[in-house]
Amino acid sequence: MSTRATSITPRVACIEAGGTKMVVSIGTTVAEIRDNRHVITTRDPSATTREIQEWFASQNTVGDIDAMGIASFGPLDNVDCRISAFSPKVEWRGWDWLPLASEFVPRDRVGFDTDTNGAAWAESLWGATASSAVSVYLTVGTGIGGGIISSGEILRGLTHSEMGHVMVRRHPEDSFAGACPVHGDCLEGLASGTAIEKRWGVPGTQLAPDHAAWVFESFYLSEMLATVAAIVAPERVILGGGVMDVPGLREESRRRYREAFVTSGHPAIEILAPALGHDSGLLGAFALGRARAQR
Ligand SMILES: [Zn+2]
Repeated sequence: MSTRATSITPRVACIEAGGTKMVVSIGTTVAEIRDNRHVITTRDPSATTREIQEWFASQNTVGDIDAMGIASFGPLDNVDCRISAFSPKVEWRGWDWLPLASEFVPRDRVGFDTDTNGAAWAESLWGATASSAVSVYLTVGTGIGGGIISSGEILRGLTHSEMGHVMVRRHPEDSFAGACPVHGDCLEGLASGTAIEKRWGVPGTQLAPDHAAWVFESFYLSEMLATVAAIVAPERVILGGGVMDVPGLREESRRRYREAFVTSGHPAIEILAPALGHDSGLLGAFALGRARAQR
């Protein structure tokens, strides 16, 4: 464990913890973190964290780590560095990241939050929302999540937000029951990658860009944009995540939002792609760790 005084440019060990892969890195700058990224396939918690531990231990710079940042899939516990006991990923329920982190840094040097809050923060520091006082990052992938940044900080209340589980109006031609195990037809239940696959019988990656699926998808995303705009009124909203790789989907969601809502008084928020690509979660972990080192 590092006992040296924190350097001016702290060296941060980063973990972006995802359901299918974990991305790890060590570095002092954004460029260094991106250059050193290493991907580990997510298996059961013990095997996965052992592999992460071994990778960190194999790095020449491991003795000079000032802090660790972990941006993890949720839901998370309200305290400590734990996955929630209600996580749909059954074997990860209640998983505590601290024993792994404590092998490398003291407990108060561990920054921890959701992967979406981390990504939202990273984009606001170095990416698409860098000049916004208030911004929102929405990720549409297997699930749907979001983070709010206000005056340079992640907005947190009793716990992290659960923006994927808001209720949206139904598309009049959509009879799909919904895929959320808790709510059925919340936003995630209607518009996540999981919902698309359940509704159409194949993953979204196998549906043509002019498939009816994307009419429903842009409808639901524009409903969500209206909700976000009404509650937060951010200057910019990032629409990221794997589902947003469909050509034209972001543009169509933006167009429908403007047509259905801005014309009746909703704010003309800017709707953007992530600027950090698939590194926003990893750089979120960097931001979370760096903040701990600089306290
Ligand atoms: Zn739900």
